[in-house]
Amino acid sequence: MSAFKFGTAINCIDGRTQQRVIDYMAQKHGVDGVDMVTFPGADGIFSSEGRAAEVELARRAVSISVERHGSKVIAVVGHHDCAGNPVDKERHYMHIRRAVEKVQSWGFAARIIGLYVNDNWQIEEVSQILLT
Ligand SMILES: [Zn+2]
Repeated sequence: MSAFKFGTAINCIDGRTQQRVIDYMAQKHGVDGVDMVTFPGADGIFSSEGRAAEVELARRAVSISVERHGSKVIAVVGHHDCAGNPVDKERHYMHIRRAVEKVQSWGFAARIIGLYVNDNWQIEEVSQILLT
């Protein structure tokens, strides 16, 4: 019996996004399930002033997912029609790239990916950074 393979996602609370993110990470990154760290407009917290407490909560949750569950892939997710971070697609891409850089700076031995759930509720991969 092989071990359950965990992935990690920092995602919005939005219920339209989560199954799609799980399915994408299962298909593209071979995980069996995703530890979901959720905040309203999660991609925006890394680019906003005064959100350090949420960033720290995200870091602590991700650390458990990586260090205790052995996750090797961390996604940061933004999405179309986000009530928590109501900006246009271009700005979501900026926020997602910034979030990927921030998560990379945490130094976990995992692949960090940026995902955008578009207006057709399909996943676009924003960026991918390999850590060794
Ligand atoms: Zn949202």
